[in-house]
Amino acid sequence: MKNGVTRLFIMAKNISLIVIGGGPGGYVAAIRGAQLGADVTLIEKNRLGGTCLNVGCIPTKALLHAAEIMEEMNHAAEYGIKVKSEGYDWKQVLAKKGAVVNQLVGGVTGLLKANKVKVMEGEASFTGAKTLSVKKKDGKTETITGDKIIIAAGSVPAIPPIPGVEGNPACIDSTAALSLENPPESLLVIGGGVIGMELATAYNAFGTKVTIVEALPKLLPMMDGELTAMLRGLMEKKGIEILTEAKVLSVGKSGDKAEVQVDLKGTKKAFLAEKVLVAVGRRTDTGALQLDKAGIRHDRGKIQVNELMETSVKDVYAIGDCLGQIMLAHIASAQGELAAENALGHKAGFDSKTNPSCVYTVPEFAGVGLTEESAKEKGIDYGVGNFPLFANGKALIANGGVGAIKILYGKKFNEILGVHILGPRATDMIGEGALAIGLEATLEEVINTIHAHPTVTEAVREAALAAEKRAIHIPNK
Ligand code: FAD
Ligand code: NAD
Repeated sequence: MKNGVTRLFIMAKNISLIVIGGGPGGYVAAIRGAQLGADVTLIEKNRLGGTCLNVGCIPTKALLHAAEIMEEMNHAAEYGIKVKSEGYDWKQVLAKKGAVVNQLVGGVTGLLKANKVKVMEGEASFTGAKTLSVKKKDGKTETITGDKIIIAAGSVPAIPPIPGVEGNPACIDSTAALSLENPPESLLVIGGGVIGMELATAYNAFGTKVTIVEALPKLLPMMDGELTAMLRGLMEKKGIEILTEAKVLSVGKSGDKAEVQVDLKGTKKAFLAEKVLVAVGRRTDTGALQLDKAGIRHDRGKIQVNELMETSVKDVYAIGDCLGQIMLAHIASAQGELAAENALGHKAGFDSKTNPSCVYTVPEFAGVGLTEESAKEKGIDYGVGNFPLFANGKALIANGGVGAIKILYGKKFNEILGVHILGPRATDMIGEGALAIGLEATLEEVINTIHAHPTVTEAVREAALAAEKRAIHIPNK
Protein backbone atom coordinates (compact mmCIF):
# COMPACT_ATOMS: atom_id res chain seq x y z
CA MET A 1 0.00 0.00 0.00
CA LYS A 2 2.78 2.46 0.82
CA ASN A 3 6.25 2.69 -0.54
CA GLY A 4 8.83 2.48 2.23
CA VAL A 5 9.15 0.85 5.60
CA THR A 6 7.63 1.62 9.01
CA ARG A 7 8.06 5.29 9.80
CA LEU A 8 8.08 7.25 12.99
CA PHE A 9 5.12 9.60 12.99
CA ILE A 10 5.66 13.21 14.01
CA MET A 11 2.60 14.79 15.67
CA ALA A 12 1.01 17.74 13.88
CA LYS A 13 0.33 20.77 16.07
CA ASN A 14 -1.93 23.74 15.31
CA ILE A 15 -2.70 22.51 11.82
CA SER A 16 -6.28 22.60 10.57
CA LEU A 17 -7.35 19.84 8.21
CA ILE A 18 -10.62 19.88 6.26
CA VAL A 19 -11.90 16.65 4.78
CA ILE A 20 -14.67 16.83 2.15
CA GLY A 21 -16.82 13.68 2.17
CA GLY A 22 -17.52 11.15 4.91
CA GLY A 23 -17.21 7.87 2.96
CA PRO A 24 -14.54 5.22 3.62
CA GLY A 25 -11.95 7.56 2.13
CA GLY A 26 -12.93 10.70 4.02
CA TYR A 27 -13.81 9.36 7.45
CA VAL A 28 -10.61 7.29 7.56
CA ALA A 29 -8.53 10.33 6.50
CA ALA A 30 -10.25 12.42 9.19
CA ILE A 31 -9.54 9.86 11.93
CA ARG A 32 -5.90 9.45 10.82
CA GLY A 33 -5.48 13.23 10.73
CA ALA A 34 -6.90 13.54 14.25
CA GLN A 35 -4.63 10.73 15.49
CA LEU A 36 -1.69 12.76 14.24
CA GLY A 37 -2.84 15.82 16.20
CA ALA A 38 -4.54 17.96 13.54
CA ASP A 39 -7.67 19.98 14.21
CA VAL A 40 -10.02 18.16 11.82
CA THR A 41 -13.35 19.21 10.27
CA LEU A 42 -15.23 16.75 8.06
CA ILE A 43 -17.92 18.07 5.71
CA GLU A 44 -20.62 15.66 4.52
CA LYS A 45 -23.59 16.64 2.36
CA ASN A 46 -25.52 13.44 2.80
CA ARG A 47 -24.87 10.65 5.30
CA LEU A 48 -21.66 9.58 7.03
CA GLY A 49 -20.35 6.30 5.64
CA GLY A 50 -20.74 7.46 2.03
CA THR A 51 -21.59 5.11 -0.81
CA CYS A 52 -19.95 2.12 0.83
CA LEU A 53 -21.96 2.00 4.04
CA ASN A 54 -25.25 3.45 2.78
CA VAL A 55 -25.77 2.29 -0.81
CA GLY A 56 -22.75 0.18 -1.72
CA CYS A 57 -20.58 -2.52 -0.15
CA ILE A 58 -22.58 -3.11 3.01
CA PRO A 59 -26.23 -3.16 1.83
CA THR A 60 -25.33 -5.32 -1.21
CA LYS A 61 -23.57 -7.83 1.02
CA ALA A 62 -26.53 -7.87 3.41
CA LEU A 63 -28.85 -8.74 0.48
CA LEU A 64 -26.37 -11.31 -0.79
CA HIS A 65 -26.13 -12.89 2.64
CA ALA A 66 -29.92 -13.27 2.73
CA ALA A 67 -29.75 -14.76 -0.77
CA GLU A 68 -27.06 -17.20 0.37
CA ILE A 69 -29.27 -18.35 3.24
CA MET A 70 -32.03 -19.05 0.68
CA GLU A 71 -29.56 -21.07 -1.42
CA GLU A 72 -28.29 -22.99 1.61
CA MET A 73 -31.87 -23.88 2.48
CA ASN A 74 -32.34 -25.33 -0.99
CA HIS A 75 -29.41 -27.66 -0.32
CA ALA A 76 -30.21 -28.41 3.32
CA ALA A 77 -31.87 -31.77 2.59
CA GLU A 78 -28.58 -33.00 1.05
CA TYR A 79 -27.03 -32.56 4.49
CA GLY A 80 -29.93 -34.30 6.23
CA ILE A 81 -31.56 -31.09 7.45
CA LYS A 82 -35.28 -30.84 6.91
CA VAL A 83 -36.35 -27.23 6.30
CA LYS A 84 -39.85 -26.22 5.36
CA SER A 85 -39.35 -22.92 3.57
CA GLU A 86 -42.20 -20.48 3.48
CA GLY A 87 -40.23 -18.30 1.10
CA TYR A 88 -39.04 -14.93 2.29
CA ASP A 89 -40.34 -11.81 3.98
CA TRP A 90 -38.91 -9.05 1.77
CA LYS A 91 -39.73 -6.31 4.26
CA GLN A 92 -37.63 -8.12 6.85
CA VAL A 93 -34.81 -8.67 4.33
CA LEU A 94 -34.73 -4.88 3.81
CA ALA A 95 -35.12 -4.19 7.53
CA LYS A 96 -32.12 -6.38 8.40
CA LYS A 97 -30.05 -4.67 5.69
CA GLY A 98 -31.11 -1.27 7.08
CA ALA A 99 -30.26 -2.25 10.64
CA VAL A 100 -26.72 -3.32 9.68
CA VAL A 101 -26.22 -0.08 7.74
CA ASN A 102 -27.52 2.05 10.63
CA GLN A 103 -25.30 0.28 13.14
CA LEU A 104 -22.22 0.88 11.02
CA VAL A 105 -23.09 4.53 10.31
CA GLY A 106 -23.62 4.99 14.05
CA GLY A 107 -20.21 3.39 14.60
CA VAL A 108 -18.51 5.86 12.24
CA THR A 109 -20.33 8.78 13.91
CA GLY A 110 -19.07 7.57 17.30
CA LEU A 111 -15.51 7.07 16.06
CA LEU A 112 -15.35 10.60 14.63
CA LYS A 113 -16.64 11.98 17.91
CA ALA A 114 -14.17 9.92 19.94
CA ASN A 115 -11.36 11.31 17.77
CA LYS A 116 -12.69 14.88 18.24
CA VAL A 117 -13.39 15.35 14.54
CA LYS A 118 -15.88 18.18 13.99
CA VAL A 119 -18.60 17.09 11.54
CA MET A 120 -20.31 19.75 9.41
CA GLU A 121 -23.48 18.78 7.58
CA GLY A 122 -23.57 20.51 4.21
CA GLU A 123 -22.27 20.68 0.66
CA ALA A 124 -18.81 22.14 0.16
CA SER A 125 -17.67 24.20 -2.85
CA PHE A 126 -14.31 25.85 -3.38
CA THR A 127 -14.28 29.64 -3.54
CA GLY A 128 -10.47 29.81 -3.54
CA ALA A 129 -7.46 27.48 -3.26
CA LYS A 130 -8.02 26.76 0.42
CA THR A 131 -11.39 28.37 1.06
CA LEU A 132 -14.70 26.57 1.02
CA SER A 133 -18.29 27.69 1.12
CA VAL A 134 -20.53 25.15 2.84
CA LYS A 135 -24.23 25.16 1.98
CA LYS A 136 -25.95 23.81 5.08
CA LYS A 137 -29.19 21.87 5.23
CA ASP A 138 -31.02 24.86 6.75
CA GLY A 139 -30.14 26.94 3.66
CA LYS A 140 -27.41 28.99 5.41
CA THR A 141 -23.86 29.08 4.10
CA GLU A 142 -20.63 29.15 6.05
CA THR A 143 -17.14 29.88 4.80
CA ILE A 144 -14.23 27.90 6.17
CA THR A 145 -10.53 27.73 5.44
CA GLY A 146 -8.01 25.06 6.29
CA ASP A 147 -4.24 24.70 6.25
CA LYS A 148 -4.71 21.39 4.48
CA ILE A 149 -7.66 19.96 2.55
CA ILE A 150 -8.41 16.37 1.54
CA ILE A 151 -11.11 15.85 -1.09
CA ALA A 152 -12.95 12.54 -0.76
CA ALA A 153 -16.14 13.36 -2.70
CA GLY A 154 -16.70 9.87 -4.12
CA SER A 155 -18.87 8.87 -7.04
CA VAL A 156 -22.43 8.32 -8.26
CA PRO A 157 -23.92 5.89 -10.80
CA ALA A 158 -23.20 6.73 -14.44
CA ILE A 159 -26.16 6.97 -16.80
CA PRO A 160 -25.25 5.82 -20.32
CA PRO A 161 -26.60 7.76 -23.32
CA ILE A 162 -28.82 4.85 -24.36
CA PRO A 163 -32.14 6.13 -25.76
CA GLY A 164 -35.00 5.53 -23.32
CA VAL A 165 -32.89 5.04 -20.17
CA GLU A 166 -32.85 8.48 -18.54
CA GLY A 167 -36.06 9.32 -16.73
CA ASN A 168 -37.56 5.86 -17.38
CA PRO A 169 -39.17 4.54 -14.14
CA ALA A 170 -38.42 0.94 -15.20
CA CYS A 171 -34.69 1.75 -15.36
CA ILE A 172 -33.01 1.67 -11.96
CA ASP A 173 -29.48 2.18 -10.69
CA SER A 174 -27.75 0.18 -7.95
CA THR A 175 -29.11 2.51 -5.24
CA ALA A 176 -32.71 1.92 -6.28
CA ALA A 177 -32.02 -1.81 -6.71
CA LEU A 178 -31.19 -1.99 -3.00
CA SER A 179 -34.60 -0.73 -1.89
CA LEU A 180 -37.14 -2.21 -4.32
CA GLU A 181 -40.60 -2.77 -2.88
CA ASN A 182 -40.39 -6.40 -3.97
CA PRO A 183 -37.98 -8.49 -6.03
CA PRO A 184 -39.13 -7.97 -9.63
CA GLU A 185 -40.48 -10.90 -11.63
CA SER A 186 -37.80 -10.18 -14.28
CA LEU A 187 -34.67 -8.02 -14.35
CA LEU A 188 -32.43 -7.14 -17.28
CA VAL A 189 -29.00 -5.97 -16.17
CA ILE A 190 -27.03 -3.66 -18.46
CA GLY A 191 -23.35 -4.32 -17.63
CA GLY A 192 -21.67 -7.55 -16.54
CA GLY A 193 -19.29 -5.81 -14.12
CA VAL A 194 -19.13 -6.17 -10.35
CA ILE A 195 -22.48 -4.52 -9.55
CA GLY A 196 -24.26 -6.43 -12.33
CA MET A 197 -22.89 -9.80 -11.22
CA GLU A 198 -23.57 -9.25 -7.51
CA LEU A 199 -27.12 -7.97 -7.88
CA ALA A 200 -27.89 -10.66 -10.50
CA THR A 201 -26.76 -13.26 -7.93
CA ALA A 202 -28.93 -11.74 -5.20
CA TYR A 203 -32.14 -11.37 -7.23
CA ASN A 204 -31.74 -14.77 -8.90
CA ALA A 205 -31.80 -16.35 -5.44
CA PHE A 206 -35.06 -14.50 -4.67
CA GLY A 207 -36.70 -15.98 -7.79
CA THR A 208 -36.26 -13.09 -10.27
CA LYS A 209 -35.64 -14.10 -13.90
CA VAL A 210 -32.32 -12.33 -14.59
CA THR A 211 -30.66 -11.50 -17.93
CA ILE A 212 -27.21 -9.86 -18.03
CA VAL A 213 -26.25 -7.89 -21.14
CA GLU A 214 -22.51 -7.13 -21.39
CA ALA A 215 -20.98 -5.18 -24.26
CA LEU A 216 -17.52 -6.80 -24.10
CA PRO A 217 -16.69 -10.43 -24.97
CA LYS A 218 -15.92 -11.14 -21.28
CA LEU A 219 -17.70 -10.46 -17.98
CA LEU A 220 -15.78 -8.81 -15.11
CA PRO A 221 -13.03 -7.28 -17.28
CA MET A 222 -10.41 -7.08 -14.49
CA MET A 223 -10.73 -10.70 -13.31
CA ASP A 224 -8.92 -13.88 -14.43
CA GLY A 225 -10.49 -15.13 -17.67
CA GLU A 226 -10.46 -18.86 -16.97
CA LEU A 227 -12.15 -18.52 -13.57
CA THR A 228 -14.59 -15.91 -14.93
CA ALA A 229 -15.67 -18.44 -17.57
CA MET A 230 -16.16 -21.02 -14.79
CA LEU A 231 -18.27 -18.55 -12.79
CA ARG A 232 -20.33 -17.71 -15.88
CA GLY A 233 -21.14 -21.42 -16.33
CA LEU A 234 -22.19 -21.71 -12.67
CA MET A 235 -24.45 -18.64 -12.93
CA GLU A 236 -26.02 -19.91 -16.13
CA LYS A 237 -26.69 -23.24 -14.41
CA LYS A 238 -28.73 -21.30 -11.84
CA GLY A 239 -30.88 -19.92 -14.65
CA ILE A 240 -29.24 -16.52 -15.17
CA GLU A 241 -29.17 -15.68 -18.86
CA ILE A 242 -25.86 -14.09 -19.85
CA LEU A 243 -25.22 -12.32 -23.13
CA THR A 244 -21.76 -11.01 -24.03
CA GLU A 245 -20.75 -8.94 -27.05
CA ALA A 246 -24.26 -7.59 -26.65
CA LYS A 247 -25.08 -3.89 -26.84
CA VAL A 248 -28.28 -2.36 -25.56
CA LEU A 249 -29.60 -0.11 -28.34
CA SER A 250 -32.65 1.35 -26.63
CA VAL A 251 -35.20 0.85 -23.86
CA GLY A 252 -38.89 1.26 -24.67
CA LYS A 253 -42.19 -0.01 -23.34
CA SER A 254 -44.39 -2.97 -24.14
CA GLY A 255 -47.49 -3.23 -21.96
CA ASP A 256 -46.37 -3.05 -18.34
CA LYS A 257 -42.83 -4.19 -19.19
CA ALA A 258 -39.72 -2.47 -20.44
CA GLU A 259 -38.75 -3.59 -23.93
CA VAL A 260 -34.99 -3.66 -24.38
CA GLN A 261 -33.54 -3.78 -27.89
CA VAL A 262 -30.19 -5.54 -27.94
CA ASP A 263 -27.62 -5.93 -30.71
CA LEU A 264 -26.31 -9.44 -30.04
CA LYS A 265 -23.20 -10.02 -32.15
CA GLY A 266 -24.82 -8.22 -35.09
CA THR A 267 -28.36 -9.58 -34.66
CA LYS A 268 -31.15 -7.45 -33.20
CA LYS A 269 -33.13 -9.07 -30.37
CA ALA A 270 -35.84 -7.71 -28.04
CA PHE A 271 -36.11 -8.58 -24.34
CA LEU A 272 -38.98 -7.81 -21.96
CA ALA A 273 -38.29 -7.13 -18.29
CA GLU A 274 -40.11 -5.60 -15.32
CA LYS A 275 -36.98 -3.67 -14.31
CA VAL A 276 -33.76 -2.72 -16.08
CA LEU A 277 -30.72 -2.33 -13.83
CA VAL A 278 -28.21 0.10 -15.28
CA ALA A 279 -24.77 -0.96 -14.00
CA VAL A 280 -22.25 0.38 -16.50
CA GLY A 281 -19.87 2.05 -14.05
CA ARG A 282 -19.78 5.16 -11.87
CA ARG A 283 -18.74 8.77 -12.40
CA THR A 284 -17.01 11.11 -9.98
CA ASP A 285 -19.25 13.36 -7.85
CA THR A 286 -17.18 16.52 -8.17
CA GLY A 287 -19.59 18.88 -9.93
CA ALA A 288 -20.63 20.82 -6.80
CA LEU A 289 -17.02 21.29 -5.68
CA GLN A 290 -16.24 23.98 -8.30
CA LEU A 291 -12.72 22.61 -8.70
CA ASP A 292 -11.83 25.26 -11.27
CA LYS A 293 -12.30 28.03 -8.70
CA ALA A 294 -9.45 26.50 -6.70
CA GLY A 295 -7.40 25.76 -9.82
CA ILE A 296 -7.45 22.02 -9.10
CA ARG A 297 -6.52 20.06 -12.22
CA HIS A 298 -9.05 17.46 -13.31
CA ASP A 299 -10.02 15.48 -16.37
CA ARG A 300 -13.79 15.87 -16.85
CA GLY A 301 -14.35 15.75 -13.11
CA LYS A 302 -11.71 13.10 -12.31
CA ILE A 303 -9.30 14.82 -9.93
CA GLN A 304 -5.66 14.38 -10.92
CA VAL A 305 -3.12 13.54 -8.22
CA ASN A 306 0.48 12.40 -7.94
CA GLU A 307 1.53 9.28 -5.99
CA LEU A 308 1.53 11.31 -2.74
CA MET A 309 -2.20 12.03 -3.41
CA GLU A 310 -1.41 15.73 -3.94
CA THR A 311 -3.54 17.66 -6.42
CA SER A 312 -2.15 20.41 -8.63
CA VAL A 313 -2.81 22.87 -5.76
CA LYS A 314 -0.38 22.92 -2.83
CA ASP A 315 -1.79 21.46 0.42
CA VAL A 316 -4.88 20.07 -1.33
CA TYR A 317 -5.09 16.29 -1.61
CA ALA A 318 -7.67 13.98 -3.22
CA ILE A 319 -8.44 10.30 -2.65
CA GLY A 320 -10.83 7.47 -3.48
CA ASP A 321 -13.58 7.32 -6.08
CA CYS A 322 -13.37 11.03 -6.96
CA LEU A 323 -10.09 10.28 -8.75
CA GLY A 324 -12.06 8.10 -11.18
CA GLN A 325 -9.42 5.37 -11.08
CA ILE A 326 -9.86 2.25 -8.87
CA MET A 327 -13.30 2.64 -7.29
CA LEU A 328 -13.06 0.43 -4.20
CA ALA A 329 -13.66 1.16 -0.53
CA HIS A 330 -10.37 -0.35 0.65
CA ILE A 331 -8.47 1.74 -1.92
CA ALA A 332 -10.25 4.91 -0.74
CA SER A 333 -9.38 4.10 2.90
CA ALA A 334 -5.75 3.25 2.13
CA GLN A 335 -5.36 6.50 0.19
CA GLY A 336 -7.16 8.36 3.00
CA GLU A 337 -4.66 7.23 5.63
CA LEU A 338 -1.79 8.07 3.33
CA ALA A 339 -3.11 11.51 2.32
CA ALA A 340 -3.67 12.48 5.98
CA GLU A 341 -0.13 11.41 6.85
CA ASN A 342 1.38 13.21 3.86
CA ALA A 343 -0.68 16.35 4.55
CA LEU A 344 0.71 16.35 8.09
CA GLY A 345 4.38 16.22 7.24
CA HIS A 346 5.14 12.73 6.01
CA LYS A 347 6.01 11.59 2.52
CA ALA A 348 5.03 8.22 1.15
CA GLY A 349 3.73 7.13 -2.22
CA PHE A 350 0.65 5.04 -2.92
CA ASP A 351 1.14 1.64 -4.46
CA SER A 352 -1.84 -0.52 -5.44
CA LYS A 353 0.04 -3.75 -6.15
CA THR A 354 -1.51 -5.55 -3.15
CA ASN A 355 -5.05 -4.42 -4.05
CA PRO A 356 -7.50 -7.34 -4.03
CA SER A 357 -10.55 -7.34 -6.34
CA CYS A 358 -13.49 -9.18 -4.80
CA VAL A 359 -16.81 -10.19 -6.34
CA TYR A 360 -19.45 -11.43 -3.91
CA THR A 361 -21.13 -13.96 -6.16
CA VAL A 362 -21.94 -17.49 -5.00
CA PRO A 363 -19.31 -18.88 -4.90
CA GLU A 364 -17.20 -15.81 -4.23
CA PHE A 365 -14.51 -14.70 -6.64
CA ALA A 366 -11.35 -12.82 -5.70
CA GLY A 367 -8.03 -11.97 -7.28
CA VAL A 368 -4.87 -10.02 -6.56
CA GLY A 369 -1.87 -9.20 -8.72
CA LEU A 370 -1.53 -10.15 -12.36
CA THR A 371 -4.06 -12.20 -14.30
CA GLU A 372 -2.85 -14.44 -17.12
CA GLU A 373 -4.24 -11.86 -19.54
CA SER A 374 -2.26 -9.00 -17.99
CA ALA A 375 0.92 -11.11 -17.66
CA LYS A 376 0.72 -11.96 -21.38
CA GLU A 377 0.10 -8.33 -22.25
CA LYS A 378 3.20 -7.31 -20.30
CA GLY A 379 5.24 -10.06 -21.97
CA ILE A 380 6.14 -11.66 -18.62
CA ASP A 381 7.49 -15.22 -18.62
CA TYR A 382 5.07 -16.78 -16.14
CA GLY A 383 3.91 -20.20 -14.99
CA VAL A 384 0.62 -21.31 -13.41
CA GLY A 385 -0.33 -23.62 -10.56
CA ASN A 386 -3.99 -24.67 -10.60
CA PHE A 387 -5.86 -26.56 -7.92
CA PRO A 388 -9.53 -27.60 -8.26
CA LEU A 389 -11.56 -27.30 -5.07
CA PHE A 390 -13.28 -30.70 -5.47
CA ALA A 391 -9.99 -32.07 -4.09
CA ASN A 392 -10.24 -29.92 -0.95
CA GLY A 393 -12.18 -31.39 1.99
CA LYS A 394 -13.46 -28.14 3.46
CA ALA A 395 -14.71 -26.86 0.08
CA LEU A 396 -16.36 -30.21 -0.60
CA ILE A 397 -18.29 -29.84 2.64
CA ALA A 398 -19.09 -26.16 2.11
CA ASN A 399 -20.30 -26.10 -1.50
CA GLY A 400 -19.69 -29.49 -3.09
CA GLY A 401 -16.15 -28.52 -4.06
CA VAL A 402 -17.11 -25.97 -6.68
CA GLY A 403 -14.30 -23.62 -7.71
CA ALA A 404 -10.54 -23.48 -8.17
CA ILE A 405 -7.43 -21.62 -7.08
CA LYS A 406 -4.80 -20.36 -9.48
CA ILE A 407 -1.35 -19.04 -8.69
CA LEU A 408 0.74 -17.20 -11.26
CA TYR A 409 4.49 -17.01 -10.70
CA GLY A 410 7.48 -15.56 -12.52
CA LYS A 411 9.56 -18.30 -14.16
CA LYS A 412 12.89 -16.59 -13.42
CA PHE A 413 12.59 -16.01 -9.65
CA ASN A 414 9.53 -18.14 -8.76
CA GLU A 415 7.93 -15.01 -7.23
CA ILE A 416 4.14 -14.93 -6.81
CA LEU A 417 2.65 -12.63 -9.46
CA GLY A 418 -1.06 -13.26 -8.95
CA VAL A 419 -3.53 -15.30 -6.90
CA HIS A 420 -7.06 -15.99 -8.14
CA ILE A 421 -9.72 -17.81 -6.16
CA LEU A 422 -13.21 -18.93 -7.10
CA GLY A 423 -14.74 -20.71 -4.17
CA PRO A 424 -16.27 -20.46 -0.72
CA ARG A 425 -14.97 -17.47 1.28
CA ALA A 426 -12.63 -16.47 -1.58
CA THR A 427 -12.87 -12.83 -0.48
CA ASP A 428 -11.59 -13.70 3.00
CA MET A 429 -8.80 -15.91 1.66
CA ILE A 430 -7.41 -13.43 -0.86
CA GLY A 431 -5.55 -11.68 1.99
CA GLU A 432 -2.93 -14.43 1.84
CA GLY A 433 -2.33 -13.65 -1.83
CA ALA A 434 -2.10 -9.90 -1.12
CA LEU A 435 0.42 -10.52 1.66
CA ALA A 436 2.47 -12.87 -0.57
CA ILE A 437 2.62 -10.24 -3.32
CA GLY A 438 3.40 -7.44 -0.85
CA LEU A 439 6.27 -9.46 0.63
CA GLU A 440 7.43 -10.56 -2.83
CA ALA A 441 7.08 -14.16 -1.63
CA THR A 442 8.09 -17.08 -3.80
CA LEU A 443 6.25 -20.36 -4.40
CA GLU A 444 8.63 -22.01 -1.88
CA GLU A 445 7.69 -19.50 0.82
CA VAL A 446 3.99 -20.27 0.40
CA ILE A 447 4.77 -24.00 0.31
CA ASN A 448 6.92 -23.75 3.47
CA THR A 449 4.06 -22.09 5.35
CA ILE A 450 1.97 -24.64 7.23
CA HIS A 451 -1.72 -24.20 6.35
CA ALA A 452 -4.35 -25.43 8.81
CA HIS A 453 -6.42 -28.50 8.02
CA PRO A 454 -9.24 -28.70 7.14
CA THR A 455 -9.46 -25.28 5.51
CA VAL A 456 -9.96 -23.99 1.98
CA THR A 457 -6.66 -22.10 2.38
CA GLU A 458 -4.83 -25.45 2.12
CA ALA A 459 -5.74 -25.22 -1.55
CA VAL A 460 -3.63 -22.05 -1.89
CA ARG A 461 -0.60 -24.07 -0.83
CA GLU A 462 -1.66 -26.95 -3.09
CA ALA A 463 -1.89 -24.53 -6.04
CA ALA A 464 1.71 -23.46 -5.28
CA LEU A 465 2.69 -27.15 -5.11
CA ALA A 466 0.85 -27.80 -8.38
CA ALA A 467 2.97 -25.06 -9.99
CA GLU A 468 6.00 -27.20 -9.16
CA LYS A 469 4.17 -30.37 -10.27
CA ARG A 470 4.21 -31.76 -6.75
CA ALA A 471 0.64 -31.26 -5.55
CA ILE A 472 -0.29 -33.98 -3.09
CA HIS A 473 -4.06 -34.16 -3.51
CA ILE A 474 -4.36 -34.17 -7.33
CA PRO A 475 -2.38 -36.08 -9.92
CA ASN A 476 0.31 -33.81 -11.42
CA LYS A 477 0.28 -33.46 -15.18
P1 FAD B 1 -17.95 7.69 -1.22
O1 FAD B 1 -18.15 6.49 -0.42
O2 FAD B 1 -18.78 7.88 -2.45
O3 FAD B 1 -18.14 8.93 -0.25
C1 FAD B 1 -18.10 10.25 -0.71
C2 FAD B 1 -18.91 11.11 0.23
O4 FAD B 1 -18.66 12.47 -0.09
C3 FAD B 1 -20.42 10.90 0.11
O5 FAD B 1 -20.96 10.62 1.36
C4 FAD B 1 -20.93 12.22 -0.46
O6 FAD B 1 -22.22 12.55 0.04
C5 FAD B 1 -19.88 13.20 0.04
N1 FAD B 1 -19.73 14.41 -0.80
C6 FAD B 1 -19.57 14.47 -2.15
N2 FAD B 1 -19.44 15.75 -2.55
C7 FAD B 1 -19.52 16.51 -1.43
C8 FAD B 1 -19.48 17.91 -1.21
N3 FAD B 1 -19.30 18.78 -2.21
N4 FAD B 1 -19.62 18.36 0.06
C9 FAD B 1 -19.80 17.50 1.09
N5 FAD B 1 -19.86 16.16 0.92
C10 FAD B 1 -19.71 15.67 -0.32
N6 FAD B 1 -16.20 -1.35 -2.87
C11 FAD B 1 -15.55 -2.34 -2.24
O7 FAD B 1 -14.36 -2.20 -1.94
N7 FAD B 1 -16.18 -3.51 -1.91
C12 FAD B 1 -17.48 -3.72 -2.22
O8 FAD B 1 -18.02 -4.78 -1.91
C13 FAD B 1 -18.19 -2.69 -2.88
N8 FAD B 1 -19.49 -2.86 -3.20
C14 FAD B 1 -20.15 -1.83 -3.81
C15 FAD B 1 -21.49 -2.02 -4.16
C16 FAD B 1 -22.19 -1.02 -4.80
C17 FAD B 1 -23.65 -1.23 -5.16
C18 FAD B 1 -21.55 0.22 -5.08
C19 FAD B 1 -22.31 1.33 -5.74
C20 FAD B 1 -20.23 0.41 -4.74
C21 FAD B 1 -19.51 -0.62 -4.12
N9 FAD B 1 -18.17 -0.48 -3.80
C22 FAD B 1 -17.50 -1.50 -3.19
C23 FAD B 1 -17.44 0.75 -4.09
C24 FAD B 1 -17.32 1.61 -2.83
O9 FAD B 1 -18.60 1.88 -2.30
C25 FAD B 1 -16.61 2.90 -3.16
O10 FAD B 1 -15.39 2.62 -3.82
C26 FAD B 1 -16.30 3.70 -1.90
O11 FAD B 1 -17.48 4.03 -1.21
C27 FAD B 1 -15.53 4.97 -2.26
O12 FAD B 1 -15.27 5.69 -1.10
P2 FAD B 1 -15.06 7.27 -1.15
O13 FAD B 1 -14.87 7.70 0.26
O14 FAD B 1 -14.05 7.60 -2.16
O15 FAD B 1 -16.45 7.85 -1.72
P1 NAD C 1 -17.84 -1.90 -13.73
O1 NAD C 1 -16.91 -0.97 -14.37
O2 NAD C 1 -17.33 -2.92 -12.79
O3 NAD C 1 -18.65 -2.71 -14.84
C1 NAD C 1 -19.40 -2.09 -15.84
C2 NAD C 1 -19.60 -3.09 -16.96
O4 NAD C 1 -20.56 -2.56 -17.85
C3 NAD C 1 -18.34 -3.36 -17.76
O5 NAD C 1 -18.15 -4.75 -17.87
C4 NAD C 1 -18.63 -2.72 -19.10
O6 NAD C 1 -18.02 -3.38 -20.19
C5 NAD C 1 -20.13 -2.82 -19.17
N1 NAD C 1 -20.78 -1.82 -20.03
C6 NAD C 1 -20.50 -0.50 -20.13
N2 NAD C 1 -21.37 0.08 -20.98
C7 NAD C 1 -22.20 -0.88 -21.43
C8 NAD C 1 -23.31 -0.90 -22.31
N3 NAD C 1 -23.74 0.20 -22.91
N4 NAD C 1 -23.94 -2.07 -22.53
C9 NAD C 1 -23.52 -3.21 -21.89
N5 NAD C 1 -22.48 -3.24 -21.05
C10 NAD C 1 -21.83 -2.10 -20.82
O7 NAD C 1 -18.95 -0.97 -13.06
P2 NAD C 1 -20.10 -1.32 -12.03
O8 NAD C 1 -20.40 -2.77 -12.03
O9 NAD C 1 -21.18 -0.34 -12.34
O10 NAD C 1 -19.45 -0.94 -10.66
C11 NAD C 1 -19.02 0.41 -10.40
C12 NAD C 1 -17.88 0.46 -9.44
O11 NAD C 1 -18.27 0.01 -8.15
C13 NAD C 1 -16.74 -0.41 -9.90
O12 NAD C 1 -15.62 0.41 -10.12
C14 NAD C 1 -16.46 -1.36 -8.78
O13 NAD C 1 -15.11 -1.36 -8.46
C15 NAD C 1 -17.29 -0.85 -7.61
N6 NAD C 1 -17.93 -2.01 -6.98
C16 NAD C 1 -17.14 -2.90 -6.32
C17 NAD C 1 -17.70 -4.02 -5.76
C18 NAD C 1 -16.81 -5.00 -5.06
O14 NAD C 1 -15.66 -4.67 -4.80
N7 NAD C 1 -17.29 -6.18 -4.71
C19 NAD C 1 -19.05 -4.26 -5.86
C20 NAD C 1 -19.82 -3.35 -6.56
C21 NAD C 1 -19.24 -2.22 -7.11
